[in-house]
Amino acid sequence: MHLEKQLTDMAFACGWDYCGFADLTPYHSYMSDFCGPFINQFPRAVSLIIRLSNAVVDSIEEQERDKILSFHNYNYYAIDYLQNTGTARIANYLEGNGWRAYPVPASYGVYQERLAALISHKLVARAAGLGWIGKNGLFLTPREGPRVRLASILTDAPFETAQPVESACHNCQICQLACPSGAIKGREFNEREADCERVDPAKCFNFMDNRKKEWDIEIERCVCGLCVAVCPFGKRLGSRQQR
Ligand code: SF4
Ligand code: SF4
Repeated sequence: MHLEKQLTDMAFACGWDYCGFADLTPYHSYMSDFCGPFINQFPRAVSLIIRLSNAVVDSIEEQERDKILSFHNYNYYAIDYLQNTGTARIANYLEGNGWRAYPVPASYGVYQERLAALISHKLVARAAGLGWIGKNGLFLTPREGPRVRLASILTDAPFETAQPVESACHNCQICQLACPSGAIKGREFNEREADCERVDPAKCFNFMDNRKKEWDIEIERCVCGLCVAVCPFGKRLGSRQQR
């Protein structure tokens, strides 16, 4: 059986909804600005995507405190656990077969000044042909829109890779108009620009930080999530499933 098929079957068995294969070499220079020359030993990556519950995402549109806290627990604990155990298993399989494999878990902020993780899962998923990076700065699949969470496994395993997908946001401004902090600038993805050219991470962070003070709660990694909930990609699917 081809390695791609073996890995995809394993990913589905671990609970992932999408598995793709990316060529990282065109991005090594950009990525090494974040994580250093470490990245150069990994010419490829497996991109893994899990879809979020429409019911949970739909519930945050009213921005009620308890729904947002439920979204936080679901997104950052339940889904992260699935992501991290799944990547560890697949990386072990690759290493057991003689290749290098570095499982990069769900997006924990490693570089606080940029609110960024070790590598950009979004860039990997785009290079793996699974979707595009939207004006909201999030990764979108054609079917689920931004209602997804990502992880990646860096590797030198010799699989076939896909081609990047271009943005389908076009003239849409829905997330920009909905964002309560003004963080979303309305710019299309450009692989030569940093994420902060599209979304100001400090505005997003500060908005929720102030709200947490008003609510008198102390939790990390909580977001308002409107830019996930309002996007017509994924929202259409959620509405259709509810009818
Ligand atoms: S999470 Fe909320 S504040 Fe942050 S970018 Fe999205 S809509 Fe704006
Ligand atoms: S709401 Fe519109 S502009 Fe924003 S990410 Fe979705 S499709 Fe793109």
